[in-house]
Amino acid sequence: MSTRQDCPTCPSRDVTDTHIGRCRFVTTERTSAEQYGATQGIPAVATADAWAHLGHVATPQDATRIIRQIVDLGWRPVIGKDPGRLWTGGDDRG
Ligand SMILES: [Zn+2]
Repeated sequence: MSTRQDCPTCPSRDVTDTHIGRCRFVTTERTSAEQYGATQGIPAVATADAWAHLGHVATPQDATRIIRQIVDLGWRPVIGKDPGRLWTGGDDRG
């Protein structure tokens, strides 16, 4: 049996080594995606949301790679149908 401990990455307490390793890995990948999106003025919450959705069909590393491709292609400031997800900033040429 593994020792239960508090996660150093997230606020979870009494977790296993499996959680700690997975949590650090997932957090690193999500943060990397958020930072890449931020270079184009995309709010971290929007990037993290898209990243999480991609995570349903891809590994965390693949989700980050896909986010980078989306940002490089020119992600327009509407994802989904919720007008509350509109944002301003970045390049507004079109
Ligand atoms: Zn954690």
